[in-house]
Amino acid sequence: MAVKNQKAGARPILVASNRLPYTFVRTATGIEQRPSPGGLVAAVEPVLRKRGGTWIGWPGGDLPEGQLDADDAGYRVAAVEMTESEVSRYYHGFSNRTLWPLLHSMTDRARFAVRDWETYVRINERFGEVAVRESDGSEIIWIHDYHLLLAPASIRRERPDARLSFFLHTPFPPYDIFRLLPWDRELLRGMLACDLIGFHVRGYAQNFLDCVERSLGARVNQDEMLVEYGGRTTKIESHPIGIEFDEFEQLAIDAPAASQSRREQVVLGVDRLDYTKGIPERFKAFERLLELHPEHREKVTLLQLAVPSRSQVAEYRNLKREIDETVGRINGRFATSNWSPIRYLYRSVTRKRLAALYRDADVALVTPLRDGMNLVAKEFVACQVGPPGVLVLSKLAGAANTMREVLRVNPYDVDGTAEGLHRALEMGEHERRSRMTALRNRERRDDLEHWVTGFLASAAGSRRSLVPLGDADFEAWLADFLSRRYRLALFLDYDGTLTPLTDHPSKAKLSKKMRGALEACAARDDTDIAVISGRAIEDVKAMVKQPNLTFAGNHGLQIVGTDMPEFIHEDLIHYRERADELCRSLQKLAVGGAWIEAKGPTLTYHYRAVADDVRDKLIEEARSIIQMAGYQDRDAHCAVEARPPIGWDKGRAVLHILRTRYGPAWSESVRVVYVGDDQTDEDAFRFLAGLATTFRVGSPDTSTAATRRLPDVSAVLSLIDWLSRRPESEPTPTPASESTRDSGHTRTRQSTRSQT
Ligand code: UDP
Repeated sequence: MAVKNQKAGARPILVASNRLPYTFVRTATGIEQRPSPGGLVAAVEPVLRKRGGTWIGWPGGDLPEGQLDADDAGYRVAAVEMTESEVSRYYHGFSNRTLWPLLHSMTDRARFAVRDWETYVRINERFGEVAVRESDGSEIIWIHDYHLLLAPASIRRERPDARLSFFLHTPFPPYDIFRLLPWDRELLRGMLACDLIGFHVRGYAQNFLDCVERSLGARVNQDEMLVEYGGRTTKIESHPIGIEFDEFEQLAIDAPAASQSRREQVVLGVDRLDYTKGIPERFKAFERLLELHPEHREKVTLLQLAVPSRSQVAEYRNLKREIDETVGRINGRFATSNWSPIRYLYRSVTRKRLAALYRDADVALVTPLRDGMNLVAKEFVACQVGPPGVLVLSKLAGAANTMREVLRVNPYDVDGTAEGLHRALEMGEHERRSRMTALRNRERRDDLEHWVTGFLASAAGSRRSLVPLGDADFEAWLADFLSRRYRLALFLDYDGTLTPLTDHPSKAKLSKKMRGALEACAARDDTDIAVISGRAIEDVKAMVKQPNLTFAGNHGLQIVGTDMPEFIHEDLIHYRERADELCRSLQKLAVGGAWIEAKGPTLTYHYRAVADDVRDKLIEEARSIIQMAGYQDRDAHCAVEARPPIGWDKGRAVLHILRTRYGPAWSESVRVVYVGDDQTDEDAFRFLAGLATTFRVGSPDTSTAATRRLPDVSAVLSLIDWLSRRPESEPTPTPASESTRDSGHTRTRQSTRSQT
């Protein structure tokens, strides 16, 4: 790959962002390239110029063919092509109408449309494909921003060893907001394919950690900011972005002096025209200033530069109208023959001109309602090369986390913002200088290069992993939940949970350690264990070989426990013969290693040993035979289950056991923990949502309703072992019931009677 300017020794970088740093527009003389607007390009483009590498993105406008050398840029670009309708759904739709408002906590503006989501998924896949094609495996792959939250996962699938990092340039909202998104888990999973995820400030990083822990059940170490998910550890870091301080400073020094001495003070606003920027609110605060402090009339002008943005989205067009009207109204109210309070420019300007505007402003009024960082605040500071101005900054901008010496305002508080502005306009030279000096020193030090170097050093640095799952995790997850007042009802699936999956069910034997942990746990007075399996009940009993447990077989259609009446679902009687018939019909598919496990009222068609080329056909035929027999076909691990169409599942079986054992008010005295690895356990997870702590064992790629995940059987062993050693509980007797001691367990007669 031809990479110019690549620094010796430094790994090449492959940047993926929605936009290429240039928009390519077809003109009469050929394709013309124009710099793309926005903070991201301003931030990252200079890095590629220096280090070289490849930039992948959507070129916008006219599509160039294949790869292009961006003239003079010193790095390669590769276009990710999209049709107009894809741009509409992926970019204007899901990115800007769904994610953008949600990430900025503006929930009422967010729109959720399935087709937009589907296109977003598809385009992210496409970005992943281009990245994989362009990468030779040696680069640090650096993915940017909310348009590409799923791309890391699609790259990871093809490149398990890639160095993958991500930076989010927007805020990341609290759990209660992010989970409004119907696809929140998919996005979180997409991001967790990275080795490193960077946010501007620690608060966003903490929100993310909270989300992955609560929505995905990922294992999180808050102190070390590490997430373990699917056997991979992701570092979460805050890297507040900086600006090209020296360049802005130089532009401000070089810009021609203002032509005539001004009589009035200038308050400057510079923003993309976006509802997050709080432009109408800012105008209202300015209006309020003129009401509260009339001495500023004819002496102060608000110069607002609004850069056109996303005008295809209706909300942005409406916002433009609102701003036009507000400007008209305020100017109409206060303007005199030689003064207009607001000068409003709806366009973009060159950097040179911008630097002059910054330099010559007395006050920068930067009042976003929410902003990931806000580069304008920093650029203003860099351009204060003459008599220092004052920065009034919204406390809701990420920049407010580090820029401590600004005058901080709440943009929703119109009077407070007006007073902040008044204070800025009145501030004496000494105070202005001391505040601005501190701000300039920090921004000069923590500039763009500092951000890039820091982030890339971390991206290239050693990978970290969490200490193996152990007591500290179970303590954090369960100690409060299993407080001493409660008994524990522990429900365990068998195959894939208590034993690893094998190529034949008869080989799935309990390990010595697992047997020991189960025995120790079952021996406790405050713990009841039920093993709940898809196997026939006699089969699972024979595998576990522990007398004091409860067993549920055939996904809970049959239940036996030492201290509860045997349960057989009453409808099963109708299915015994039909199951035999179905078994006979399926026998013809017992070929090529496939076999049928007859389990009384249910049966399983196992195809683990079947060769790939005939598998799908056999499965399809098995499904059709099962359905023809009036049975339901359900996916299991390398098997299709045939279950009678009875409205019963593991969730209902759990409820049955709980009610029978502990009475209808079981949740007052019992804590439930359920561990399972299978789709059939999802019924129980859903039923127990909010009522139990549930664990899904195995691959993190399947979605689950469980509270948390455990990677494998050895993690289940650690959990059961911890449960067997936890402090004894002191259960409170249920008042309405008569207590009996039976095989070491406290039981209630009332509850035993309450079923059947
Ligand atoms: N900017 C621009 N053209 C202009 C005015 C501003 O490109 O006419 C730049 C400005 O210099 C800054 C960026 O737009 O670097 C805005 O970044 P910010 O973080 O403030 O907001 P964003 O647009 O990323 O939400």
